[in-house]
Amino acid sequence: MFEVKAYPEYSWSLSRHKLLMECNRKYAYNYYMSHNGWLREGSELAKSAYRLKNITNVEMFFGSIIHELIEKVVTEYLKTGVVPKEETLTAHVSQRLNQGFTDSKTNRLQWEAKPKHFTMFHEVYYNGAIPEEKIEEIKYRLSVSMKNFLESQTFKEIKDKNQTKVFEFEQFRTMVFHKTKTYIVMDMVYRDFKRGKWIIVDWKTGKSTDEDREQLALYALYLKQKFNLEDFSEIEVRNEYLLNGTNATYSLNEYDFLKVNHTFELSNEKMFSLLENVAKNQPVNLQEFEKTEHAWKCDRCNFKELCEMY
Ligand code: SF4
Repeated sequence: MFEVKAYPEYSWSLSRHKLLMECNRKYAYNYYMSHNGWLREGSELAKSAYRLKNITNVEMFFGSIIHELIEKVVTEYLKTGVVPKEETLTAHVSQRLNQGFTDSKTNRLQWEAKPKHFTMFHEVYYNGAIPEEKIEEIKYRLSVSMKNFLESQTFKEIKDKNQTKVFEFEQFRTMVFHKTKTYIVMDMVYRDFKRGKWIIVDWKTGKSTDEDREQLALYALYLKQKFNLEDFSEIEVRNEYLLNGTNATYSLNEYDFLKVNHTFELSNEKMFSLLENVAKNQPVNLQEFEKTEHAWKCDRCNFKELCEMY
């Protein structure tokens, strides 16, 4: 039976860490104040925080559609051997984007009632419209992403079924890292038998960032643990950049793993320092979560309207 818990379960992820680094108050709204906001008897603060937590933006929405679609295409391909046409895939993404725009512009009441089932863009919620330059940028991304996916090194390699084996996507969602439940979002893992390598793939629908490598190092640690690999030399990690059709494939070194362990330890320490009761994962008072001093962060924050009240 569904049990209502006073506090959420503690877990760690890189995105949780990044959010904490961005603004402690934002972290509190997102991971604690929104808890039980989906319940009719939830507090007004919890309901508002939960609703706002579900706001997305155009780039993130586009990225999630592309990721879902690639997973579906690869799964179907492995079952049937059929590769869909680029135009079919692009039309699907376009249709989903249009639905997102329609939800944001005209279905606000429905979104307020069921924020997980409808889409609300930050741009529309706070400014009433999506800026023209963003629309142009998304149109550009749409025009190149599916072509680059179909021509990517990864998709070419997995089409050679004699040489590769793709692992079920669901296996790579959570891990226990240093006794802590840790969420991971590994886009794809496959085995290249010819070269004797495990390949971890991350599809990128935006520009490359310094964090891409750290994220993949965490995934490699998990893979080594899950499959009892002797060392990391059997693992290759790859970022596939769908905007320009390039990829970065590399092996990781000791320094990468030291770095990710270090981030994990410091991050958990900081998160625990914001708890009143660690065993229950009960947070300190909201006012004790500091607000950022950088106004530019607030401009793009989902919780801006809550922050003005509390
Ligand atoms: S509006 Fe600014 S201070 Fe408030 S939660 Fe968002 S980023 Fe933090």
